[in-house]
Amino acid sequence: MALSQRISTLTGGGSDGWDVFIKARKMIASGTPVTELTIGEHDIRTAAPILQDMHKSALGGHTGYAMVPGTDALRDTVAARTSQRTGVPTTRDNVLITPGGQSALFAAHAAACDPGDTALYLDPYYATYPGTIRGVSAVPKAIQTRAEDAFQPRASDIAAHAQDAKSLLINSPNNPTGTVYSQETLQGIADLCQAHDLWLISDEVYDTQIWEGSHLSPRALPGMSERTLVIGSMSKSHAMTGSRCGWVIGPPEVINHLITFATHTTYGVPGFIQDASVFALNQGSAFEEEVGAPFRRRRDIARRVLAGQNIVGLIPAQGAMYLMLDIRATGMSGEDFANALLDAHHVAVMPGESFGTAAAGHLRVAMTVADEVFENALLTLVHFAESIAAG
Ligand code: PMP
Repeated sequence: MALSQRISTLTGGGSDGWDVFIKARKMIASGTPVTELTIGEHDIRTAAPILQDMHKSALGGHTGYAMVPGTDALRDTVAARTSQRTGVPTTRDNVLITPGGQSALFAAHAAACDPGDTALYLDPYYATYPGTIRGVSAVPKAIQTRAEDAFQPRASDIAAHAQDAKSLLINSPNNPTGTVYSQETLQGIADLCQAHDLWLISDEVYDTQIWEGSHLSPRALPGMSERTLVIGSMSKSHAMTGSRCGWVIGPPEVINHLITFATHTTYGVPGFIQDASVFALNQGSAFEEEVGAPFRRRRDIARRVLAGQNIVGLIPAQGAMYLMLDIRATGMSGEDFANALLDAHHVAVMPGESFGTAAAGHLRVAMTVADEVFENALLTLVHFAESIAAG
């Protein structure tokens, strides 16, 4: 039986850049210890009080179908938090609760794009983006950002492709680069979205993880709230990746359509997960800082380890749980370096090439192992790069 084009070409074919990751997992399975600095998963688990609240809710009977748009309590909590953090008045009518940010990204593109429409996104990018866009039968178009700009996008580069596009997907704080978009960058993007009548899909799942500067949601810029769909999630901010709870924030008429869309796709998020999410959000910002603290600490470790050498460059690492390292001075591609590092020293990092073409000659390092292990792995990486550069 023939499958649809959509489903059989979702990843676009070719290598998906995860070879190093798969090789590392095989080494581990065959008994070789590997320090894995690959995927974006905290090294802590969901906090016990959140799980206790989830348990209480489930035992209390919140195990049936939940309201498709999300519970009133969670929509209100997310709306109040958004109003408070961004200054944009937000009510439950602006909020759809989704099974994670990933599903919110899919829903947002379904709302913005018809089949065949061009959907823009920025390279380097989070691995699922082009497939998510293909999933709604839109056409993904990557726009390169530049290492020399620390991967802050230039509005002029985007404008060159905006003519026939319907949407632009951005992500700050950024996975994989750790870059936090400046006010100037975001204003440039807002201006071009208005000039070219683009939907802006703003993936802000790392918005509580800021190590330098501050997070600005572009929905708060003048004229943007009616054309911006914000993607949020409990995954990164509250170490609840497995709970699958996220949201889309947008104009009420868009949310109304997305509720209908959710009725025909996900049918909502389990009630006990939503109750636990309300509980988690009510712990306030001190709790969010606690979840992010290990990454802040490890970023400082990285700055110390990388200071005083000039073979491995560090993209500023302003936010999120990743470092982007420039290893072009070794003369190797990110892919060759990552493979060689894994073979020689059993340290697994992601080649920059896994995230598009703009981060070629770079490595993404997830800061997701204990401080001491992290420091040793980085030292190993630096010494390895130095030995290669020295020939
Ligand atoms: N956006 C970005 C940039 C991510 O890194 C991730 C997860 N790694 C997601 C969205 C999706 O996260 P979730 O579905 O767990 O909310």
